[in-house]
Amino acid sequence: MAKLLIGGEQVDSVGKETTEVRNPATGEVVDSVPKGTSRDVEQAIGAAETAFKEWADVTAEDRGKMLMNACGLIKEKSKEIAQLLTQEQGKTLFEANLEIHHLLHGLEFYAGLASKVRGAHVPLPQKNAYGMVIHQPIGVCAGIIPWNFPLTLMGTKLGPALAAGNTIIIKPASTTPLATLLCIEQIQKATYGEGKQQRTLPKGSINVVTGPGSTVGEELLKNPRVRRIAFTGSTEVGRHVMEVAGREIKRITLELGGSDPMIVMEDANLEAAVRMADVGRFFNCGQMCLGVKRLFLQESIADKFIGNLAELLKKKTVGNGMSKESRMGPLHLDYQRKEVEEQVEDAKARGAKAVVGGERAKGGDLGRGFFYLPTLLTDVPDDARISTEECFGPALPVFKFKDLDEAIEKANSSIYGLGSSIWTRNMLAANKAIEKFQAGNVWVNSLHYGYDELPFGGVKASGVGREHGPEALDYYLEPKAVVIVNV
Ligand code: NAD
Repeated sequence: MAKLLIGGEQVDSVGKETTEVRNPATGEVVDSVPKGTSRDVEQAIGAAETAFKEWADVTAEDRGKMLMNACGLIKEKSKEIAQLLTQEQGKTLFEANLEIHHLLHGLEFYAGLASKVRGAHVPLPQKNAYGMVIHQPIGVCAGIIPWNFPLTLMGTKLGPALAAGNTIIIKPASTTPLATLLCIEQIQKATYGEGKQQRTLPKGSINVVTGPGSTVGEELLKNPRVRRIAFTGSTEVGRHVMEVAGREIKRITLELGGSDPMIVMEDANLEAAVRMADVGRFFNCGQMCLGVKRLFLQESIADKFIGNLAELLKKKTVGNGMSKESRMGPLHLDYQRKEVEEQVEDAKARGAKAVVGGERAKGGDLGRGFFYLPTLLTDVPDDARISTEECFGPALPVFKFKDLDEAIEKANSSIYGLGSSIWTRNMLAANKAIEKFQAGNVWVNSLHYGYDELPFGGVKASGVGREHGPEALDYYLEPKAVVIVNV
């Protein structure tokens, strides 16, 4: 059985209860983890506070070296981590390996940035006085993680938090704690410095408390000793996070849901656009915040585009992520599959047609898991649930449009604003979309999922603040204004 990681030790929960982690492809138990309690969180906070005293004093350069060293240690276990991730989450091994690749890239990015934090020297109107702005770590941070990308989304919090000199408590989703625990066991062994000066990351710099959001998550939100909450998850829980953590005036970032539009104009490179519509919607079985969740096609090319995309989707092999043949795994939860099913059925009841899919995947062992066929829906009305809600699974509604203004208006009609793309070779159309899209991320002839180099986040109900990029470091630092007068 896996354990909590508190103060550098593997420990049981004080509550002694455990939860089984099951494979969404087979229903089999992968392992069990402790069902953490608020008392476990308190212990983790104590360990993180103690570690902070030491870690915040380590030079920025050494903090960067530690993160680089951690990447090497993760690589040593990457095969095992990827298999565990596939078993607990359901994604294919290819997708699991890609996720580890992204995790490493992100950690390396912040390893390099740790020593690049700059302050300022500011001229002041008062004679003999000068001002400075210095940036200091905040203290104990918490990262609350969803189940769709457990490792990358842990890394987007842990990387900048540690680089900036903070310590952190990670709360994985209840159903995907295993790969995270294995990964952090490796990171905890990371060293910095050379020869006799070599040191290990202070114990308690990273802690992992597994368990439900309603206990472990709540304690992290409420406890005033946790100064910073980085949350990725649904908009519904995000609202709650802001309310509860806001009462303690915590530093908060929220990366929430999305319903990304992809607009394809008649002059676009259709082959590239079809390929990316497939990746953009069906990668990770459609369980992506930044997924193409609404496809807008200009009327003149719509039928050809739908036909080509349908051909690709019919060839997609759905199956257990551990099999080399599988191109799409199961949904992560039965509940999640039911949601997608209901959204598809609602659209059909309102006149939509399933050109491909529209039902559960059957045959062989598929009945044991939460499989659903890649689904392409046409003739979808604007007020169908799948048009207005986030669809977190492998179903793509298609809408036709006459001109760009109409497409942009419909694209922006969502409550979400995470990522929007336009496919065109017309610079004027592209520039108009860049300017008008209501989204934190905009792509022209591409869909780029989370470049570490660029700030990433949403507008409207998709979130507050940014992860990735140098911008993310600012959310883990407090600026301190200093005035020095020469008298
Ligand atoms: P979720 O909101 O149900 O859970 C996310 C995390 O919050 C989990 O660890 C959960 O245990 C915890 N949690 C639940 N209740 C809590 C509470 N009361 N207090 C504190 N923590 C609590 O989300 P999910 O179903 O795991 O993930 C899917 C959602 O995440 C989708 O909406 C998706 O779009 C979104 N998401 C957003 C991004 C992004 O970067 N914008 C990335 C990935 C996923």
